[in-house]
Amino acid sequence: MKILKFGGTSVGSPQRMKDVSALIANGEKKIVVLSAMSGTTNSLVEIADYFKKKNAEAANNVINKLRTKYIGHINELHSTKEAMERTTDFVEDVFMYLHSFSTSDFNETSEKTILAQGEIISTNMVTNYLREIGIKVMLIPALDYMRLDENGEPDLLYIKKNLQGILEKNPDYDLYITQGFICRNYHGEIDNLQRGGSDYTACLIGSALRAEEIQIWTDIDGMHNNDPRIVDNTTPVRQLNFEEAAELAYFGAKILHPTCIQPARYAGVPVRLLNTMEPTAPGTLINNNMETGRIKAVAAKDNITAIKIVSSRMLLATGFLRKVFEIFEAYKTSIDMVTTSEVGVSLSIDNSSRLLPIVEELKKYGTVEVDRNMCIICVVGDLKWDNIGFETLVTEALSNIPVRMISYGGSNHNISFLIKEDDKKTALQALSNKLFN
Ligand code: ADP
Ligand code: ASP
Ligand code: MG
Repeated sequence: MKILKFGGTSVGSPQRMKDVSALIANGEKKIVVLSAMSGTTNSLVEIADYFKKKNAEAANNVINKLRTKYIGHINELHSTKEAMERTTDFVEDVFMYLHSFSTSDFNETSEKTILAQGEIISTNMVTNYLREIGIKVMLIPALDYMRLDENGEPDLLYIKKNLQGILEKNPDYDLYITQGFICRNYHGEIDNLQRGGSDYTACLIGSALRAEEIQIWTDIDGMHNNDPRIVDNTTPVRQLNFEEAAELAYFGAKILHPTCIQPARYAGVPVRLLNTMEPTAPGTLINNNMETGRIKAVAAKDNITAIKIVSSRMLLATGFLRKVFEIFEAYKTSIDMVTTSEVGVSLSIDNSSRLLPIVEELKKYGTVEVDRNMCIICVVGDLKWDNIGFETLVTEALSNIPVRMISYGGSNHNISFLIKEDDKKTALQALSNKLFN
């Protein structure tokens, strides 16, 4: 069994939906995970935002615009009256439901429920289209099996048990379709796996079922060696180790959801990144192999805050670092980078919502300095410590850029730099020029 995920642009128009349908209807057993049509989740975020601010009129305007767009899509997608009516009825119900938030109390679950509608619509459209052209397909609602635990993390056992149960009860299909991104939380309310979360859905399913392969179909030929939105002349990387890919995803390579590689890595299920616009292009294969002697790719993560604690008295005394880390743990704030010296320790965090109380508590242990609007540059490849010269090469590329922190040696395949967000573009381009061009 293979798991195939198609992102927003891959199902972004009726023609794309037809192209995807042609790709998936080949008789091989598979589960297909679909995102919302591109732009839809952003519109739903806008709608939820207006409802939250009690501006129902603005929310209803956006809903009406979105509805008009979908009615056009449905007319273009279907050629029979019956299929057109079936999809139209479904989608009209969704839009009526969206309008109903005008009059209800708005809370976090309302917001998540609104955000879920994009995937609910796209999977309905593609399923109805496939049936219209005579393909047998089962739509499995993600809300029936995709669930978070009490810590807000995917509940792997629950997912496995429930999804397997559904498949066992419905064995006579080659093609199953399900929604990416959406799930239920521990209390059974509608929730999601964060923006870009359809990749995560596919990898969670792939690892729960120990699939043969997970395929992430998107609008580019695999993982490039640098961010193609920022840097010129990037090229695809044909193979990545799970850990290299996990590092790139976590540190900003938008082609993959930040944590989606983890479940695939634990289950040992290979992940292939493929291009819907060019289905025969080789893409990128992510597996257990580690190619030696090469730097593979660079990624960048914005919105980072650096915190330095300087304490001549206490640093490196037994238990000092533990006390510092416990403060971050107490405020549920995870740390990305750490560097230490005889007199101080610097840390970086990407979630600064609890920064003020964290800083207040850290002040018990020394002087605290905060630098905001920073960016982590992550370079990935064969960076084992006994491999001479690569870290020098990377550092040389950044010789004209002020560097706040450097982290190397935490793993065999990564070196990270903390720089100002303003220097990101220059740094990424300099790295590409030095390492790849
Ligand atoms: P989807 O809607 O299919 O999930 P995304 O927009 O989330 O697609 O991810 C694909 C996009 O990721 C590409 O179009 C590209 O602009 C961007 N991207 C950022 N970094 C990289 C990278 N290193 N390699 C490939 N694509 C990248
Ligand atoms: N539709 C969701 C988003 O736009 C999830 C996804 O596309 O992966 O974030
Ligand atoms: Mg994505």
